[in-house]
Amino acid sequence: MSNFIPYGRQNINQADIDAVVEVLESAFLTQGPAIERFEEVVAKYSGAKFAVAVTSATAALHISCQALGLGKGDRLWTSPNTFVASANCGLYCGAEVDFVDIDPTTYNLCTTQLKEKLEKASANGQLPKVIVPVHFAGQSCQMEAISALSQSYGIKIIEDASHSIGSSYQSKPVGSCTYSDLTVFSFHPVKIITSGEGGMVLTNDAGLYQKLIRLRTHGITRDVTLMHGEPDGPWSYQQLELGYNYRMTDIQAALGASQMDRLEKFIDRRRFLAHRYNQLLSHLPIQLPLQHKDCESSWHLYVIRLRLPELSKTHRQIFEELRQANIGVNLHYIPVHTQPYYTDLGFQHGDFPETEKYYSEAISIPLHYGLTLEQQDYIVDTLKAIVR
Ligand SMILES: *Cc1c(COP(=O)(O)O)cnc(C)c1O
Repeated sequence: MSNFIPYGRQNINQADIDAVVEVLESAFLTQGPAIERFEEVVAKYSGAKFAVAVTSATAALHISCQALGLGKGDRLWTSPNTFVASANCGLYCGAEVDFVDIDPTTYNLCTTQLKEKLEKASANGQLPKVIVPVHFAGQSCQMEAISALSQSYGIKIIEDASHSIGSSYQSKPVGSCTYSDLTVFSFHPVKIITSGEGGMVLTNDAGLYQKLIRLRTHGITRDVTLMHGEPDGPWSYQQLELGYNYRMTDIQAALGASQMDRLEKFIDRRRFLAHRYNQLLSHLPIQLPLQHKDCESSWHLYVIRLRLPELSKTHRQIFEELRQANIGVNLHYIPVHTQPYYTDLGFQHGDFPETEKYYSEAISIPLHYGLTLEQQDYIVDTLKAIVR
């Protein structure tokens, strides 16, 4: 098999193309009706009251932090096993960032370690203002426990659900914000659904929603009731705070909304393929992804963990042999605290040992809607041959 199999890939059909073309031929390429339509369908699906579409999940995380008032002298905690954006949002706001090590079975932020770290931070007067639990690979964090801890210390929660639109926790969709202030989705093409680039913030809080709407567009309002003094005239708008241009275009929103029509199909296929990997890869010197009983994952990623003591090859050798076989394996994630930018801030290798151990053993193997059974069989056979 000579074709390269990527670890993730978007699926675009004629309905998606038609939806985009329709916008291109309409009056509005941006700031038009497609944005609200996309926001409505995602909010309805997730069960949150409000949704704000933006240019990316990175932008969504940034304005979420700002809407919560995160700033200089504050702290944000997240998982070190994530994409850098989950942590960078704190730095954008001038806050300090710290991490909580992962649970060795789910690879999500560990609630036991969170509890201990909060007790220490409370004693030292160094509690975080915001915690960003990341639902790694699509599996939700233990939100009920995280929420209970956060509430007892008055901490706000932003769920980084970039991997997990379509997944559920305690039988409710991720995005419902049942246990958080805000939830962020990503629509980058490797994620579950795509708008090209794009992200969204969900919330049940009307005040936060109003702030997010303003921060998305320069901090400007056209709402007369929010204006300082009398408006100059019917042309009036006022900038109330420092915001950004983080607006999604209608072209992107139309694609995103069209993709939402197939979300269930996408998730079903990912679950089917993940289940099939579980069957086909059992009895190998590999740790397969474990699912907590409270979670139904969207399966953004399928991560295997090598049991290196039982193998005669190194992690890197196995990774390279898979790549040489045209299998687009990847590694999610390089621990954020070991990135040069973060070691310059004072973090060190060894700070979060569970995450670093995981990193030394993990490989993401291809999983996406368009992956064929033939491709999956090829991946399984190749992996078996390599690890045996
Ligand atoms: C992809 C991703 C992001 C950033 O998403 P963009 O839409 O590309 O900005 C943030 N956090 C996590 C966990 C991600 O996987």
